[in-house]
Amino acid sequence: MAQKIPTRLYLSEDEIPKYWYNLRADMKEKPEPMLHPGTLQPATAADLEPVFCKEPVKQELDDTTQLIPIPDGIQEFYKAYRPAPLVRAYFLEKALGTPAEIYYKFEGTNTSGSHKLNSAAAQAFYAKEEGLTSLTTETGAGQWGTAMAMACAYYGLDLIVYMVKVSSEQKPNRKILIETYGANLIPSPSNTTESGRKILANDPNTGGSLGCAISEAIETSIKTDKCRYVLGSVLNHVLLHQSVIGQEAKVALDKYGIKPDIIIGCAGGGSNLGGLIAPFMGDKIAGKSNTRFIAVEPASCPSFTRGRFAYDFGDTAKTTPLMKMYTLGNGFIPSANHAGGLRYHGMNSTLSKLYKDGYLEARSAIQTDVFDAAVKFMKIEGILPAPESSHAIKAAMDEAMECKKTGEKKVILFGLTGTGYFDLSAYQAYNNKTMTDYIPNDEDLAKGFATLPDIPQNK
Ligand SMILES: *Cc1c(COP(=O)(O)O)cnc(C)c1O
Repeated sequence: MAQKIPTRLYLSEDEIPKYWYNLRADMKEKPEPMLHPGTLQPATAADLEPVFCKEPVKQELDDTTQLIPIPDGIQEFYKAYRPAPLVRAYFLEKALGTPAEIYYKFEGTNTSGSHKLNSAAAQAFYAKEEGLTSLTTETGAGQWGTAMAMACAYYGLDLIVYMVKVSSEQKPNRKILIETYGANLIPSPSNTTESGRKILANDPNTGGSLGCAISEAIETSIKTDKCRYVLGSVLNHVLLHQSVIGQEAKVALDKYGIKPDIIIGCAGGGSNLGGLIAPFMGDKIAGKSNTRFIAVEPASCPSFTRGRFAYDFGDTAKTTPLMKMYTLGNGFIPSANHAGGLRYHGMNSTLSKLYKDGYLEARSAIQTDVFDAAVKFMKIEGILPAPESSHAIKAAMDEAMECKKTGEKKVILFGLTGTGYFDLSAYQAYNNKTMTDYIPNDEDLAKGFATLPDIPQNK
Protein backbone atom coordinates (compact mmCIF):
# COMPACT_ATOMS: atom_id res chain seq x y z
CA MET A 1 0.00 0.00 0.00
CA ALA A 2 1.30 3.39 -0.86
CA GLN A 3 1.78 5.82 2.01
CA LYS A 4 -1.33 7.92 2.57
CA ILE A 5 -0.65 11.49 1.57
CA PRO A 6 -1.75 13.99 4.24
CA THR A 7 -3.87 17.03 3.42
CA ARG A 8 -0.99 19.28 4.47
CA LEU A 9 2.49 18.09 3.55
CA TYR A 10 4.38 19.77 6.38
CA LEU A 11 8.05 20.69 6.39
CA SER A 12 10.09 21.58 9.46
CA GLU A 13 11.84 24.90 10.02
CA ASP A 14 15.16 23.21 9.13
CA GLU A 15 13.79 22.47 5.69
CA ILE A 16 13.37 26.13 4.73
CA PRO A 17 15.86 26.58 1.86
CA LYS A 18 19.30 27.94 2.79
CA TYR A 19 20.14 28.79 -0.82
CA TRP A 20 18.26 30.44 -3.63
CA TYR A 21 18.26 28.39 -6.81
CA ASN A 22 19.34 30.28 -9.91
CA LEU A 23 17.67 28.45 -12.82
CA ARG A 24 19.63 30.49 -15.38
CA ALA A 25 22.78 28.62 -14.36
CA ASP A 26 21.23 25.39 -15.64
CA MET A 27 19.75 26.76 -18.86
CA LYS A 28 21.54 25.59 -21.99
CA GLU A 29 20.63 28.80 -23.75
CA LYS A 30 20.64 31.85 -21.48
CA PRO A 31 18.06 34.62 -21.58
CA GLU A 32 19.15 37.62 -23.64
CA PRO A 33 21.10 40.21 -21.64
CA MET A 34 19.62 43.50 -20.48
CA LEU A 35 20.81 46.38 -22.65
CA HIS A 36 21.78 49.91 -21.76
CA PRO A 37 19.20 52.00 -23.66
CA GLY A 38 21.81 54.53 -24.84
CA THR A 39 24.68 52.33 -25.97
CA LEU A 40 22.59 49.20 -26.68
CA GLN A 41 25.43 47.22 -25.06
CA PRO A 42 24.75 44.68 -22.27
CA ALA A 43 24.00 46.57 -19.05
CA THR A 44 26.75 46.47 -16.41
CA ALA A 45 26.57 46.66 -12.63
CA ALA A 46 27.74 50.28 -12.91
CA ASP A 47 24.72 51.05 -15.14
CA LEU A 48 22.26 49.52 -12.67
CA GLU A 49 23.67 50.59 -9.31
CA PRO A 50 22.45 54.22 -9.42
CA VAL A 51 18.89 52.81 -9.34
CA PHE A 52 19.05 49.39 -7.63
CA CYS A 53 20.79 48.02 -4.53
CA LYS A 54 24.20 46.47 -5.12
CA GLU A 55 23.72 42.83 -4.14
CA PRO A 56 20.46 42.42 -6.11
CA VAL A 57 22.28 43.92 -9.13
CA LYS A 58 24.98 41.26 -8.77
CA GLN A 59 22.28 38.60 -8.63
CA GLU A 60 20.49 40.14 -11.61
CA LEU A 61 23.57 39.82 -13.80
CA ASP A 62 24.62 36.37 -12.55
CA ASP A 63 23.54 33.61 -14.89
CA THR A 64 26.20 31.09 -13.84
CA THR A 65 26.05 30.58 -10.04
CA GLN A 66 23.54 27.80 -9.43
CA LEU A 67 23.08 28.16 -5.65
CA ILE A 68 23.28 31.54 -3.91
CA PRO A 69 23.40 31.42 -0.08
CA ILE A 70 20.51 33.15 1.71
CA PRO A 71 22.06 35.46 4.35
CA ASP A 72 21.26 34.61 7.99
CA GLY A 73 19.42 37.93 8.43
CA ILE A 74 16.96 36.90 5.70
CA GLN A 75 16.67 33.26 6.83
CA GLU A 76 15.64 34.55 10.26
CA PHE A 77 12.87 36.66 8.71
CA TYR A 78 11.66 33.74 6.56
CA LYS A 79 11.13 31.68 9.72
CA ALA A 80 8.35 34.08 10.78
CA TYR A 81 6.07 32.78 8.01
CA ARG A 82 7.75 29.86 6.25
CA PRO A 83 7.68 27.02 5.34
CA ALA A 84 4.52 27.83 3.38
CA PRO A 85 1.86 25.10 3.38
CA LEU A 86 1.69 22.59 0.55
CA VAL A 87 -1.88 21.31 0.44
CA ARG A 88 -3.40 18.26 -1.21
CA ALA A 89 -6.74 19.52 -2.54
CA TYR A 90 -8.71 16.40 -1.63
CA PHE A 91 -11.99 18.35 -1.37
CA LEU A 92 -11.54 19.93 -4.78
CA GLU A 93 -10.63 16.58 -6.38
CA LYS A 94 -13.76 15.03 -4.93
CA ALA A 95 -16.01 17.94 -5.95
CA LEU A 96 -14.69 17.80 -9.51
CA GLY A 97 -14.87 14.00 -9.60
CA THR A 98 -11.44 13.93 -11.19
CA PRO A 99 -8.93 11.09 -11.05
CA ALA A 100 -6.19 13.76 -10.99
CA GLU A 101 -4.23 14.57 -7.82
CA ILE A 102 -4.22 18.33 -7.15
CA TYR A 103 -1.74 20.12 -4.89
CA TYR A 104 -1.29 23.79 -4.20
CA LYS A 105 1.53 25.74 -2.59
CA PHE A 106 -0.12 28.43 -0.48
CA GLU A 107 1.85 31.67 -0.10
CA GLY A 108 -0.95 33.70 1.49
CA THR A 109 -0.27 33.05 5.18
CA ASN A 110 1.61 36.31 5.86
CA THR A 111 -0.02 39.73 6.32
CA SER A 112 0.98 41.02 2.86
CA GLY A 113 -1.26 38.20 1.63
CA SER A 114 1.12 36.96 -1.04
CA HIS A 115 4.48 35.47 -2.00
CA LYS A 116 5.88 39.01 -2.49
CA LEU A 117 7.34 39.07 1.03
CA ASN A 118 9.99 36.51 -0.04
CA SER A 119 11.70 39.09 -2.22
CA ALA A 120 10.72 42.17 -0.18
CA ALA A 121 12.62 40.76 2.82
CA ALA A 122 15.69 40.09 0.71
CA GLN A 123 15.70 43.51 -0.95
CA ALA A 124 15.15 45.44 2.30
CA PHE A 125 17.89 43.41 4.03
CA TYR A 126 20.43 44.22 1.30
CA ALA A 127 19.45 47.90 1.29
CA LYS A 128 20.05 48.14 5.02
CA GLU A 129 23.37 46.30 4.74
CA GLU A 130 24.47 48.73 2.04
CA GLY A 131 23.83 51.67 4.41
CA LEU A 132 20.78 53.10 2.63
CA THR A 133 18.10 54.87 4.65
CA SER A 134 15.10 54.76 2.33
CA LEU A 135 13.56 52.94 -0.63
CA THR A 136 10.93 53.73 -3.24
CA THR A 137 8.71 51.35 -5.12
CA GLU A 138 5.43 51.00 -6.98
CA THR A 139 2.51 48.72 -6.31
CA GLY A 140 -0.39 47.64 -8.50
CA ALA A 141 -2.92 45.63 -6.55
CA GLY A 142 -1.11 46.50 -3.30
CA GLN A 143 0.48 43.21 -2.21
CA TRP A 144 4.00 44.31 -3.13
CA GLY A 145 3.59 47.68 -1.42
CA THR A 146 2.38 45.90 1.72
CA ALA A 147 5.22 43.37 1.58
CA MET A 148 7.82 46.15 1.20
CA ALA A 149 6.21 48.15 4.01
CA MET A 150 6.43 45.06 6.25
CA ALA A 151 10.07 44.40 5.32
CA CYS A 152 11.07 48.08 5.73
CA ALA A 153 9.40 48.19 9.15
CA TYR A 154 11.39 45.09 10.17
CA TYR A 155 14.78 46.18 8.82
CA GLY A 156 14.33 49.87 9.71
CA LEU A 157 14.03 51.76 6.40
CA ASP A 158 11.75 54.55 5.15
CA LEU A 159 9.58 53.70 2.15
CA ILE A 160 7.57 55.60 -0.47
CA VAL A 161 5.03 53.50 -2.39
CA TYR A 162 3.54 54.79 -5.65
CA MET A 163 0.26 52.91 -6.03
CA VAL A 164 -1.54 52.70 -9.39
CA LYS A 165 -4.37 55.18 -8.94
CA VAL A 166 -7.24 52.95 -10.06
CA SER A 167 -6.11 50.25 -7.62
CA SER A 168 -5.76 52.72 -4.76
CA GLU A 169 -9.37 53.77 -5.39
CA GLN A 170 -10.57 50.16 -5.63
CA LYS A 171 -8.69 49.17 -2.46
CA PRO A 172 -8.61 51.99 0.10
CA ASN A 173 -7.81 49.48 2.86
CA ARG A 174 -4.50 48.62 1.22
CA LYS A 175 -3.49 52.25 1.72
CA ILE A 176 -4.38 52.09 5.41
CA LEU A 177 -2.43 48.87 5.87
CA ILE A 178 0.66 50.18 4.08
CA GLU A 179 0.55 53.41 6.08
CA THR A 180 0.09 51.51 9.32
CA TYR A 181 3.36 49.71 8.61
CA GLY A 182 4.89 53.19 8.39
CA ALA A 183 5.29 53.73 4.64
CA ASN A 184 4.18 56.77 2.65
CA LEU A 185 1.63 55.90 -0.06
CA ILE A 186 1.11 58.14 -3.12
CA PRO A 187 -1.51 57.35 -5.82
CA SER A 188 0.14 57.37 -9.27
CA PRO A 189 0.33 59.32 -11.53
CA SER A 190 0.97 62.12 -9.03
CA ASN A 191 2.18 65.70 -9.01
CA THR A 192 5.26 64.71 -6.97
CA THR A 193 7.40 63.77 -9.99
CA GLU A 194 8.14 65.10 -13.46
CA SER A 195 7.10 61.84 -15.08
CA GLY A 196 3.81 61.88 -13.14
CA ARG A 197 3.08 65.48 -14.10
CA LYS A 198 3.80 64.69 -17.74
CA ILE A 199 1.42 61.72 -17.78
CA LEU A 200 -1.28 63.79 -16.04
CA ALA A 201 -0.88 66.63 -18.54
CA ASN A 202 -1.50 64.13 -21.37
CA ASP A 203 -4.43 62.43 -19.73
CA PRO A 204 -5.73 64.01 -16.48
CA ASN A 205 -8.27 61.18 -15.98
CA THR A 206 -5.89 58.26 -16.36
CA GLY A 207 -6.20 55.46 -13.82
CA GLY A 208 -2.47 54.99 -14.05
CA SER A 209 -0.44 51.89 -14.83
CA LEU A 210 2.40 49.95 -13.29
CA GLY A 211 4.78 51.27 -15.93
CA CYS A 212 3.91 54.83 -14.93
CA ALA A 213 4.17 54.17 -11.18
CA ILE A 214 7.59 52.61 -11.78
CA SER A 215 8.74 55.78 -13.57
CA GLU A 216 7.69 57.90 -10.59
CA ALA A 217 9.38 55.61 -8.06
CA ILE A 218 12.64 55.53 -10.03
CA GLU A 219 12.66 59.31 -10.46
CA THR A 220 12.18 59.88 -6.73
CA SER A 221 14.87 57.34 -5.80
CA ILE A 222 17.40 59.04 -8.06
CA LYS A 223 16.60 62.46 -6.60
CA THR A 224 16.86 61.27 -2.98
CA ASP A 225 20.09 60.75 -1.03
CA LYS A 226 20.84 57.20 0.25
CA CYS A 227 17.75 55.92 -1.50
CA ARG A 228 17.27 53.22 -4.10
CA TYR A 229 14.38 51.72 -6.02
CA VAL A 230 13.05 48.20 -5.51
CA LEU A 231 10.85 46.16 -7.84
CA GLY A 232 8.58 43.27 -6.85
CA SER A 233 8.52 41.21 -10.03
CA VAL A 234 9.84 40.97 -13.62
CA LEU A 235 13.56 41.08 -12.75
CA ASN A 236 15.66 37.94 -12.47
CA HIS A 237 16.81 38.63 -8.91
CA VAL A 238 13.15 38.68 -7.82
CA LEU A 239 12.59 35.28 -9.44
CA LEU A 240 15.74 34.08 -7.68
CA HIS A 241 14.34 35.07 -4.27
CA GLN A 242 11.04 33.39 -5.13
CA SER A 243 12.82 30.08 -5.77
CA VAL A 244 12.12 29.27 -2.11
CA ILE A 245 8.54 28.48 -3.23
CA GLY A 246 9.54 25.78 -5.70
CA GLN A 247 12.29 24.36 -3.51
CA GLU A 248 9.97 23.88 -0.54
CA ALA A 249 7.31 22.34 -2.78
CA LYS A 250 9.85 19.94 -4.26
CA VAL A 251 11.24 18.83 -0.88
CA ALA A 252 7.72 18.12 0.39
CA LEU A 253 6.65 16.24 -2.76
CA ASP A 254 9.91 14.25 -2.87
CA LYS A 255 9.25 12.97 0.67
CA TYR A 256 6.19 11.20 -0.65
CA GLY A 257 7.69 10.27 -4.01
CA ILE A 258 5.25 12.55 -5.85
CA LYS A 259 6.27 13.81 -9.29
CA PRO A 260 4.11 16.57 -10.77
CA ASP A 261 2.98 16.08 -14.37
CA ILE A 262 1.71 19.66 -14.70
CA ILE A 263 2.77 22.79 -12.80
CA ILE A 264 0.61 25.89 -13.16
CA GLY A 265 1.17 29.47 -12.07
CA CYS A 266 -0.48 32.80 -12.74
CA ALA A 267 1.77 35.25 -14.54
CA GLY A 268 1.99 38.99 -14.01
CA GLY A 269 5.68 39.84 -14.26
CA GLY A 270 6.52 36.18 -13.70
CA SER A 271 8.00 36.06 -10.19
CA ASN A 272 5.77 33.48 -8.49
CA LEU A 273 5.66 31.30 -11.59
CA GLY A 274 9.43 31.53 -12.03
CA GLY A 275 9.97 30.73 -8.35
CA LEU A 276 7.52 27.83 -8.26
CA ILE A 277 8.78 26.10 -11.39
CA ALA A 278 12.53 26.79 -10.95
CA PRO A 279 13.80 23.48 -9.49
CA PHE A 280 11.29 21.42 -11.50
CA MET A 281 12.30 23.22 -14.70
CA GLY A 282 15.95 22.53 -13.81
CA ASP A 283 15.07 18.81 -13.82
CA LYS A 284 13.26 19.11 -17.12
CA ILE A 285 16.17 20.91 -18.77
CA ALA A 286 18.51 18.20 -17.44
CA GLY A 287 16.27 15.56 -19.06
CA LYS A 288 15.23 14.14 -15.69
CA SER A 289 11.48 14.82 -16.03
CA ASN A 290 8.85 15.60 -18.57
CA THR A 291 6.73 18.00 -16.52
CA ARG A 292 4.49 20.46 -18.39
CA PHE A 293 4.59 24.07 -17.18
CA ILE A 294 1.66 26.42 -17.79
CA ALA A 295 1.57 30.20 -17.31
CA VAL A 296 -1.89 31.74 -16.97
CA GLU A 297 -2.41 35.41 -17.69
CA PRO A 298 -5.47 37.67 -17.91
CA ALA A 299 -7.02 38.02 -21.37
CA SER A 300 -7.03 41.78 -20.66
CA CYS A 301 -3.21 41.92 -20.37
CA PRO A 302 -1.96 39.06 -22.55
CA SER A 303 1.82 39.57 -22.78
CA PHE A 304 2.75 35.92 -23.44
CA THR A 305 -0.15 34.91 -25.63
CA ARG A 306 -0.47 38.05 -27.78
CA GLY A 307 2.69 40.05 -27.03
CA ARG A 308 5.85 40.46 -29.11
CA PHE A 309 9.23 38.96 -28.17
CA ALA A 310 11.22 42.19 -28.27
CA TYR A 311 13.49 44.49 -26.32
CA ASP A 312 11.39 46.91 -24.29
CA PHE A 313 11.60 49.30 -21.38
CA GLY A 314 10.25 48.27 -18.00
CA ASP A 315 8.47 51.60 -17.53
CA THR A 316 6.42 54.18 -19.41
CA ALA A 317 8.96 56.98 -19.07
CA LYS A 318 11.54 54.72 -20.77
CA THR A 319 14.13 55.05 -18.01
CA THR A 320 14.97 51.39 -17.28
CA PRO A 321 17.43 49.20 -19.17
CA LEU A 322 15.97 47.30 -22.12
CA MET A 323 14.82 43.75 -21.48
CA LYS A 324 14.16 41.10 -24.11
CA MET A 325 10.75 39.83 -23.20
CA TYR A 326 7.24 39.09 -24.33
CA THR A 327 5.69 42.52 -24.12
CA LEU A 328 2.61 44.50 -25.12
CA GLY A 329 4.74 47.66 -25.31
CA ASN A 330 5.65 49.91 -22.39
CA GLY A 331 2.75 52.26 -23.25
CA PHE A 332 0.12 49.51 -22.95
CA ILE A 333 -2.43 50.22 -20.22
CA PRO A 334 -4.95 47.48 -19.42
CA SER A 335 -8.62 48.35 -19.33
CA ALA A 336 -9.76 49.89 -16.02
CA ASN A 337 -12.45 47.22 -15.48
CA HIS A 338 -9.71 44.65 -14.87
CA ALA A 339 -9.83 43.92 -11.14
CA GLY A 340 -6.74 42.16 -9.87
CA GLY A 341 -3.04 42.62 -10.42
CA LEU A 342 -1.30 40.94 -13.38
CA ARG A 343 -1.47 44.25 -15.25
CA TYR A 344 2.19 44.61 -16.22
CA HIS A 345 2.98 45.06 -19.92
CA GLY A 346 5.95 42.68 -20.04
CA MET A 347 7.17 39.32 -18.76
CA ASN A 348 10.41 38.29 -17.05
CA SER A 349 13.22 37.61 -19.56
CA THR A 350 14.06 34.10 -18.30
CA LEU A 351 10.45 32.94 -18.56
CA SER A 352 10.21 34.68 -21.94
CA LYS A 353 13.20 32.66 -23.16
CA LEU A 354 11.76 29.39 -21.80
CA TYR A 355 8.44 30.14 -23.51
CA LYS A 356 10.18 31.00 -26.78
CA ASP A 357 12.14 27.72 -26.60
CA GLY A 358 9.06 25.61 -25.89
CA TYR A 359 9.75 24.68 -22.24
CA LEU A 360 6.79 26.66 -20.97
CA GLU A 361 3.19 26.93 -22.24
CA ALA A 362 0.91 29.92 -21.77
CA ARG A 363 -2.80 30.56 -21.92
CA SER A 364 -5.09 33.43 -21.00
CA ALA A 365 -8.34 33.52 -19.03
CA ILE A 366 -11.15 36.07 -18.94
CA GLN A 367 -11.98 37.77 -15.68
CA THR A 368 -15.49 36.36 -15.12
CA ASP A 369 -14.27 32.78 -15.72
CA VAL A 370 -11.45 33.40 -13.24
CA PHE A 371 -13.92 34.56 -10.59
CA ASP A 372 -16.18 31.56 -11.32
CA ALA A 373 -13.20 29.36 -10.47
CA ALA A 374 -12.26 31.48 -7.44
CA VAL A 375 -15.73 31.24 -5.90
CA LYS A 376 -15.95 27.50 -6.56
CA PHE A 377 -12.54 27.06 -4.93
CA MET A 378 -13.32 29.11 -1.82
CA LYS A 379 -16.52 27.19 -1.21
CA ILE A 380 -14.77 23.83 -1.60
CA GLU A 381 -11.29 24.41 -0.12
CA GLY A 382 -12.20 27.22 2.27
CA ILE A 383 -9.54 29.76 1.27
CA LEU A 384 -10.52 33.14 -0.22
CA PRO A 385 -8.07 33.38 -3.14
CA ALA A 386 -6.55 36.53 -4.64
CA PRO A 387 -7.92 37.23 -8.14
CA GLU A 388 -4.36 36.80 -9.47
CA SER A 389 -4.01 33.34 -7.93
CA SER A 390 -7.41 32.40 -9.29
CA HIS A 391 -6.01 32.38 -12.82
CA ALA A 392 -3.95 29.37 -11.75
CA ILE A 393 -6.96 27.81 -9.99
CA LYS A 394 -8.97 28.11 -13.19
CA ALA A 395 -6.30 26.35 -15.26
CA ALA A 396 -5.77 23.65 -12.60
CA MET A 397 -9.50 22.93 -12.58
CA ASP A 398 -9.57 22.81 -16.39
CA GLU A 399 -6.67 20.35 -16.44
CA ALA A 400 -8.34 18.23 -13.74
CA MET A 401 -11.56 18.13 -15.79
CA GLU A 402 -9.53 17.08 -18.83
CA CYS A 403 -8.24 14.15 -16.74
CA LYS A 404 -11.85 13.29 -15.90
CA LYS A 405 -12.57 12.96 -19.64
CA THR A 406 -9.51 10.87 -20.42
CA GLY A 407 -9.38 8.95 -17.14
CA GLU A 408 -5.73 9.93 -16.64
CA LYS A 409 -4.51 10.20 -13.05
CA LYS A 410 -2.21 13.18 -13.52
CA VAL A 411 -0.49 15.04 -10.69
CA ILE A 412 -1.22 18.77 -10.88
CA LEU A 413 0.60 21.37 -8.76
CA PHE A 414 -0.41 25.01 -8.79
CA GLY A 415 0.68 28.15 -7.00
CA LEU A 416 -1.93 29.68 -4.71
CA THR A 417 -0.04 32.94 -4.47
CA GLY A 418 -2.25 34.83 -2.04
CA THR A 419 -5.52 35.75 -0.40
CA GLY A 420 -8.26 38.09 -1.62
CA TYR A 421 -9.36 39.96 1.51
CA PHE A 422 -8.59 43.31 -0.12
CA ASP A 423 -10.37 42.31 -3.32
CA LEU A 424 -13.85 42.06 -1.88
CA SER A 425 -15.19 44.89 -4.04
CA ALA A 426 -14.24 42.77 -7.07
CA TYR A 427 -16.04 39.80 -5.51
CA GLN A 428 -19.00 42.11 -4.89
CA ALA A 429 -19.03 43.10 -8.57
CA TYR A 430 -18.93 39.41 -9.44
CA ASN A 431 -21.83 38.65 -7.07
CA ASN A 432 -23.87 41.57 -8.42
CA LYS A 433 -23.13 40.46 -11.98
CA THR A 434 -21.73 43.91 -12.77
CA MET A 435 -18.27 42.47 -13.46
CA THR A 436 -17.38 42.73 -17.13
CA ASP A 437 -14.65 41.40 -19.38
CA TYR A 438 -12.54 43.42 -21.71
CA ILE A 439 -10.32 41.75 -24.23
CA PRO A 440 -8.11 44.24 -26.05
CA ASN A 441 -8.69 44.27 -29.80
CA ASP A 442 -5.86 44.35 -32.34
CA GLU A 443 -6.11 48.13 -32.52
CA ASP A 444 -5.58 48.45 -28.73
CA LEU A 445 -2.56 46.17 -29.00
CA ALA A 446 -1.16 48.06 -31.99
CA LYS A 447 -1.09 51.23 -29.87
CA GLY A 448 1.01 49.42 -27.29
CA PHE A 449 3.35 47.90 -29.88
CA ALA A 450 3.91 51.39 -31.33
CA THR A 451 5.67 52.29 -28.06
CA LEU A 452 8.32 49.55 -28.46
CA PRO A 453 11.79 51.04 -28.92
CA ASP A 454 12.82 51.51 -32.52
CA ILE A 455 16.24 49.83 -32.35
CA PRO A 456 18.08 47.41 -34.67
CA GLN A 457 17.57 44.57 -32.13
CA ASN A 458 13.82 44.84 -32.67
CA LYS A 459 13.91 44.69 -36.48
C1 LIG B 1 1.91 40.13 -7.47
C2 LIG B 1 1.08 38.95 -7.41
C3 LIG B 1 1.00 38.05 -8.49
C4 LIG B 1 1.66 38.27 -9.80
O1 LIG B 1 3.00 38.62 -9.83
P1 LIG B 1 4.11 37.68 -10.38
O2 LIG B 1 5.35 38.46 -10.28
O3 LIG B 1 3.76 37.32 -11.78
O4 LIG B 1 4.12 36.51 -9.49
C5 LIG B 1 0.24 36.92 -8.35
N1 LIG B 1 -0.45 36.68 -7.22
C6 LIG B 1 -0.41 37.52 -6.16
C7 LIG B 1 -1.22 37.19 -4.96
C8 LIG B 1 0.35 38.67 -6.23
O5 LIG B 1 0.40 39.48 -5.18
